[in-house]
Amino acid sequence: MYPAEFEYFAPGTVDEALELLARHGDEAKILAGGQSLIPMMKLRIASPRCVIDVNRIPGLTGFRQDGDRLIIGALCRHAEIAQSALVRERLPLMTDAASQTADVQVRNRGTVGGSLAHADPAGDWPAALLALETSVTIAGREGRRTVPLQEFIVDAYTTQLGPIEMVTEIAVRLPTPPCGGAYVKFEKRAGDFAVASVGVQIELAAGGQCRAVAISLGALGAMPTRARAAEDVLRGRAPSSALLAEAEPLVRAEAQPFDDTRGSVEYKRHLAGVLFRRAFSAALDRAHGRDVQTLHV
Ligand SMILES: Cc1cc2nc3c(=O)[nH]c(=O)nc-3n(C[C@H](O)[C@H](O)[C@H](O)COP(=O)(O)OP(=O)(O)OC[C@H]3O[C@@H](n4cnc5c(N)ncnc54)[C@H](O)[C@@H]3O)c2cc1C
Repeated sequence: MYPAEFEYFAPGTVDEALELLARHGDEAKILAGGQSLIPMMKLRIASPRCVIDVNRIPGLTGFRQDGDRLIIGALCRHAEIAQSALVRERLPLMTDAASQTADVQVRNRGTVGGSLAHADPAGDWPAALLALETSVTIAGREGRRTVPLQEFIVDAYTTQLGPIEMVTEIAVRLPTPPCGGAYVKFEKRAGDFAVASVGVQIELAAGGQCRAVAISLGALGAMPTRARAAEDVLRGRAPSSALLAEAEPLVRAEAQPFDDTRGSVEYKRHLAGVLFRRAFSAALDRAHGRDVQTLHV
């Protein structure tokens, strides 16, 4: 199907893009990688009268290390993250997430900023980055503001973004070694959205206890969540089978999935527990310096 007719703009600066958003209001949509917007336009789920292509704005691309943070431009493509040696070494959870998102074509075009702004409940970046200390920088006409990712996404397909705002940058704190992370996704077909996914990031104390732990759940509710009760059980204690057996039911209880063509509520809750164990064990192996391949279930 063809999209409805629209006007196309390609601003050269963030300010120009915001000006266009102000002028066209609800009728305008930002175009980043187009991997969600264009299919929605073709299916006429979205019919914006005005498309603002931000791909020519300098300064929104790529990523860089800045002290103890990874700064990711809104237009950074999934593939750039998947291929990065720096990310693989410092944030392997992100390598797992990027390499399991969609297929090669989508990964080459789709952007991290677009994925967060779209806030698909089954999206990989919203779920994966929630296990890390992630903040989102938003540009508006009054300047820029930075919000934690857990506040940025407020519901399914809904974020804090106002009508005259856009995402410019995402910042992720580099975890302090010894540390490890993993993102495990279960999909029905290769390249599909998740039936369920779990991200685990841990930092270890000198005695081997979990000094810091974060567990994120994807596709297990209207928006990604953290399994806080399970984190509380794990924090300060040394990982063991008994400890994981204590934490797993708490992870399952946190999951609030929907019955749909990808599976029943019971099935997805069960998956949440299984994926948690796999992600935790890969994260722990990585924290101990053991090589774990990028995770594909
Ligand atoms: C076949 C297929 C399979 C896919 N499988 C997966 C998958 O397994 N996992 C997964 O996570 N995703 C999947 N996707 C979606 C893909 O990851 C998209 O790239 C991503 O969801 C959106 O990023 P985008 O850059 O393409 O955004 P676009 O499609 O350009 O935009 C999406 C939405 O975000 C808004 N937006 C984009 N950038 C900004 C910005 N900087 N500021 C404010 N608003 C902005 C747009 O206005 C639009 O509303 C799949 C897509 C396809 C076509």
